[in-house]
Amino acid sequence: MLRDLRVSVTDRCNFRCLYCLPETEAAALFRQNRFPAARDGATRLTRPWQPHGQILTFEEIERVVRLAAGLGIEKVRLTGGEPLLRPQIEKLVGMIAPIPGVHDLAMTSNGFLFAQKGRALRQAGLRRISFSLDSLDRENFRKITGRDGLAALLAAIDLAQELELHPVKINAVIMRGVNDHEIEALGEFAASRRLNLRFIEFMPLDSGRAWHKDLMVPGREILRRLQQRFPLQPLVSLNPSETAWRWALPDGRCEIGIIAPVSEPFCGHCNRLRLTADGKIRTCLFSVVEHDLRGLARAGAADDTLRDFLLSVVRQKEARHHIGEPEFVQPERTMSCIGG
Ligand code: SAM
Repeated sequence: MLRDLRVSVTDRCNFRCLYCLPETEAAALFRQNRFPAARDGATRLTRPWQPHGQILTFEEIERVVRLAAGLGIEKVRLTGGEPLLRPQIEKLVGMIAPIPGVHDLAMTSNGFLFAQKGRALRQAGLRRISFSLDSLDRENFRKITGRDGLAALLAAIDLAQELELHPVKINAVIMRGVNDHEIEALGEFAASRRLNLRFIEFMPLDSGRAWHKDLMVPGREILRRLQQRFPLQPLVSLNPSETAWRWALPDGRCEIGIIAPVSEPFCGHCNRLRLTADGKIRTCLFSVVEHDLRGLARAGAADDTLRDFLLSVVRQKEARHHIGEPEFVQPERTMSCIGG
């Protein structure tokens, strides 16, 4: 049974991360708000922002989460795009937190607006937060994200710890020649600040279509580097659906994990379902089909019908992804649209 629901609350983002929604494409999206012609396939734009009317309302999201919780979903993570860009996001948190069966309500954010929203989110019932932190160097951070946002993110981490959104988690996507020289520094930072750190392999889900296997640093290589610096102790997970290989530093100060979906897929154990901001259900990040829940809901479907729909979609979940195989097709919608 699927236990984990990722809910994208917006496809919009205020960062332009190289691995996700890089600047040139986003700028063109802003200027033209339409599909420009493909240029040699290499920098093809994916989609303009979704019109507001196509984005699920809070009431619609709450309904899906409630029905999914009735079917066994226990963990809900709000993501995007950048979830803090969604006006009154704390109101949605307050609507989801009391749903029976939802034991864990988390968010993934770039942290830029967290100073304004953190307290309200905590009060509304947010339990945990993950921030994307791909560099500790102000200039490299700006290069990767397109924003001079390192100071705001470091302040966000402080605030999240003060608000006891434990364990505060950091995600770092490692790209060769871009931030792979910072692997050890990120480890030191996490250890000194008692943060949980996840290194994530660069996946072919970037809107710039720049992904190439040579840009991806395999999880094993990241692990070797970390083991040379830190005396890591493997952590045994009781959760077979755990996506990360996990280690603790011997003094238990923090946990370091590696998520290697490209080089060592964990598809067979994946228990995730994704709801996109425009109300499509995706059973895999690399799905090439989406299931239109919004259409059904807005056509007046009863709860039972939506429940049956969710169950039938789950039965169609892909056995695995095909990255690296000849038949692999990069999904048209990229991470910022799907919700990471
Ligand atoms: N805006 C939020 C943020 O910055 O964390 C949430 C959305 S972002 C799409 C969520 C996560 O997706 C990020 O932490 C990043 O690790 C991951 N991500 C995005 N594109 C990726 C890619 N091409 N490969 C691996 N991870 C990616």
